[in-house]
Amino acid sequence: MYTDILNTSIEFLKGVGPKRAEHLKSELSIYTYRDLLNHFPFRYVDRSKLNKINQISNDSKDVQLLIKIKTIQELGHGRKKRLVALAEDESGSIQLIWFKGINWIKPMLIKGNSYLVFGKPSLFGGQWNISHPELEPEEKKENKLGFLQPIYPSSEKLNSMGLNSRGLENLVRTLLPQVVEHLPQTLSNHIEAKNHFLNIKESYNSIHFPSNKTILQKAILRLKFEELFFLQLAMAKQKINVRRKSKGFKFNVVGDYFNIFFSEHLPFTLTGAQKRVIKEIRKDIGSGFHMNRLLQGDVGSGKTLVALLVMLICIDNGFQACLMAPTEILATQHFTTLSKMLNKMDLKIEILTGSTKMAKRKEIHESLLNGKVNILIGTHALLEDVVKFKNLGMSIIDEQHRFGVAQRAKLWKKNINPPHVLVMTATPIPRTLAMTFYGDLDVSVIDELPPGRKKVKTVHRFDSSRLQVFQFLEDEIKKGGQVYIVYPLIEESEKLDYKDLMDGYESITRRFPLPDYKVSIVHGKMKPEAKDYEMNAFAKGQTQIMVATTVIEVGVDVPNASVMVIESAEKFGLSQLHQLRGRVGRGADQSYCVLMSGYKLSEDAKNRLETMVRTEDGFEIAEVDLKMRGPGDIMGTQQSGVLDFKLADLARDGQIIQLAKSNVDELLKEDPDITSPNNKTIRQELIRQMRLKPNWSNIS
Ligand code: ADP
Ligand code: MG
Repeated sequence: MYTDILNTSIEFLKGVGPKRAEHLKSELSIYTYRDLLNHFPFRYVDRSKLNKINQISNDSKDVQLLIKIKTIQELGHGRKKRLVALAEDESGSIQLIWFKGINWIKPMLIKGNSYLVFGKPSLFGGQWNISHPELEPEEKKENKLGFLQPIYPSSEKLNSMGLNSRGLENLVRTLLPQVVEHLPQTLSNHIEAKNHFLNIKESYNSIHFPSNKTILQKAILRLKFEELFFLQLAMAKQKINVRRKSKGFKFNVVGDYFNIFFSEHLPFTLTGAQKRVIKEIRKDIGSGFHMNRLLQGDVGSGKTLVALLVMLICIDNGFQACLMAPTEILATQHFTTLSKMLNKMDLKIEILTGSTKMAKRKEIHESLLNGKVNILIGTHALLEDVVKFKNLGMSIIDEQHRFGVAQRAKLWKKNINPPHVLVMTATPIPRTLAMTFYGDLDVSVIDELPPGRKKVKTVHRFDSSRLQVFQFLEDEIKKGGQVYIVYPLIEESEKLDYKDLMDGYESITRRFPLPDYKVSIVHGKMKPEAKDYEMNAFAKGQTQIMVATTVIEVGVDVPNASVMVIESAEKFGLSQLHQLRGRVGRGADQSYCVLMSGYKLSEDAKNRLETMVRTEDGFEIAEVDLKMRGPGDIMGTQQSGVLDFKLADLARDGQIIQLAKSNVDELLKEDPDITSPNNKTIRQELIRQMRLKPNWSNIS
C-alpha cells in the first residue's frame, strides 16, 4: 500500500506553509491536496482575444489590451501615493494605476515599450483606467494568449495574504503536476468508454487549465457526472438494503372485490398512467417487502381512483385499508365519492373526523376492531391511539405536504406489522429532484390527465381592468358558472391581508348584490363548522361566488366552478398558483383563471405570471420554480448537507442527472453488490465517499 499523496496536508505544498494553511482551512475548508484539487474555478476569462481601447464600454468586464507606454508618473504622497502610466494603442488611450506594490512595478515599466495588459476597466473623470492590471511584456505574450484563465473563489482574508484568485491559481499550478499521476481511477473503464468521458487526469488538468472551451465542457461534464453518479449509487444501494430488511404483507391475490368493481362499476376507463401506476404498486405489495411509495400526480390526474383500486386489492387479501386527508372538507368529499362508487358492492366504508359524534365514534371503533369496517376515511382523527384496527394492511395519505413525517410514522405503527404506505401528492416535484432526493424511496408518477379535459384559459390582468373582469364574472354566472376569488394570506402581513380580503368581499357583495347573487366567504379565522357550512353551500351551488384565502387550495372538487380569480397574484409562489388553478377546469365547460396584479412587478413575479399563462403542465411549472428558487427552498432545509455539490446544479443539470441515473441502474442490474473486478474502482470510491459523507444515510 502506498500512502495516498492526495491526503497530504496542504501545509506541505510549496508556497503554503503553516500560516497560509491555517487560513486555507478556515476560509475555504481546504485541508489536503485533494481539497485544493477540488477547489474549482467558478469562471474563466478568455485570454485568447485582444480588445481595442475604443471598444471598451460600460459593459466590459475584463479586457485584454496590447498597449505602448507613453508616460509614467508617481502622484500624491503618503497613503495617497500612486503610480500612473498613460498607455495607448492605435484606437485610443487609457490609464494604468497602481496604489500598492509601486516599488515592485515601477522598474518593470519602460516608456515606449509594448505590454499585454489585462484587467477590469472603469471610467473616472471621462478617462478609462484599469487599476492593478496584470501586465506582461509584449514579447512574452504568447504565454498568455490562447487560453482560458481560471478564476477561483477566494476570500478577503486570503486576498490579503496573497491568496487571491491568482495566488490560488499558482498553488494549483504547483500541485497538479505532482499529483496528477496519482489520481485514483473512480469510474469504471466501461462507463468512461461508453460515455466518451475524458479520463480523470485530463479532467482535472482541463477544469483548472483548459486550453479551449470544448475541452473545458468535457472536463466539467465528467466531474459533474461523478458527483451525481456516486450520490445516486449510494442511495440506490441503501434502497436495496432497506428493502432486503423490511418484511411486509404479501398481497398476491387480486380477487372478487377488485375484479367485480373493475368490470362492473368502474365509472370510466383508466388512463394509461393510472394503469401503469397500479401495476407498479401491485408489484410492490406482492413482493413480500414493505411498500413505502410516493405517488405524484398533478391536480385532477385521478389519484383517488388509484387509491380506491389499491384499497380493493388490500381487502381482497383479507385486510382493512384507510385513507387520510388533511382537512375535514376533503375527507368528506372522499367519503362521498367512494361511497357512491362502491354502493353496489358489499363493503363497509366509514368516515371519522373531529366532528364525528361520540356514539358514532364508539361504533366505528368497535367495528374497526372486529373487522366489520373495510375502509376507513378520515382526518388526523385517525391517528388517535383509541383508533385500532383488526388488521390494517394499507394506509393511504392524500396531499402529503400537509402532513409531517412524524404523523406518517404514527400511521405505520397502527399494527404490530406496519401496513403498506402510499403517500399521494399533487405537488409536482421536478423529476431530477425526485431522482436525487427520493432516490431511496419508490416514486410513481401519473403524468397524464383523463381525456376530454379542456385547457383552463389563463390571463393576466392589471388591477385597472377590474371593471371588465367583474363584467366577465357576471356573464359567467349568468351562464350558470361559479366563481372563486382568492386573496393571499402571508403571515408577515396578516393584518393587511385580512383587510384586503374583507375590503374585497365588501366590494364584491356591492357589485353582486342579493337577492340575485349570493357570496360565500371562507378564511382561516373562521370556526371549522362555519367554514364547512360555507364550503358546502358553494359546492351545492347555493352560492355563486366564493371569496377565500388559500384555505381552499387543497383538493376541493366543485366541478361547476369555472372561474378562478387570484388577487395580488404576484404574491403567490408558482406551485401555489398552480394548485389554485387546479380547482377549476374539472367540469365539461370552458374554465378560466384570471391573475390580477398591480403594475409594479419584480422580474421574478413577471416570470411567474408569464409561466402560468404559458403552460398548465405541473412538471414544467415545477422546473421553472426550481430554477427560480433553487432546490433548497423547494425541499426545505432538512436535507441540506446532502446536496452541497461542488459542481453539479440540480436546477440546471437535469440531463446529467438522468445520465448518471441510467448508468447507476445499469451497473446495479449487472453487478448488484459491486463485486466484479471490473467495477473495483467504483466500489473503492463509493466506500471512500460514504465514509466522508455520513449524512447520505439521512436522506428522506
Ligand atoms: P386528484 O389526482 O387531483 O386527486 P381526482 O382523483 O380528484 O384527482 O380526479 C379528478 C377528476 O377526474 C374526478 O372528477 C374523477 O372522477 C375524474 N377521473 C379520474 N380518473 C378518470 C379517468 N380515468 N377518466 C375520466 N375521468 C377520471
Ligand atoms: Mg385529490
